[in-house]
Amino acid sequence: MSRPPRPHEPMRPLWRCRACGAQWPCQPARLSLLVQYRHDRAGLLVYLATVMSEAAAQLGQLGGPVRPAELTERFLTWARARD
Ligand SMILES: [Zn+2]
Repeated sequence: MSRPPRPHEPMRPLWRCRACGAQWPCQPARLSLLVQYRHDRAGLLVYLATVMSEAAAQLGQLGGPVRPAELTERFLTWARARD
């Protein structure tokens, strides 16, 4: 019996991946977002900006240092179209 794979979703408020434990969005999560939004890059960036501000607020409440540049890199930079 094999279990269905766990989706790579964020565990709030830690923002670690529920499936692999990496900082979310982990590689598999990024890939599936790119697939999901493949015809709507602007929509992807809007979504990521939304979850980024949620993550910033929740991580801030945990008392850890929240560096805006790091969050931008983690949530947005990889998703920007490069061509
Ligand atoms: Zn993951």
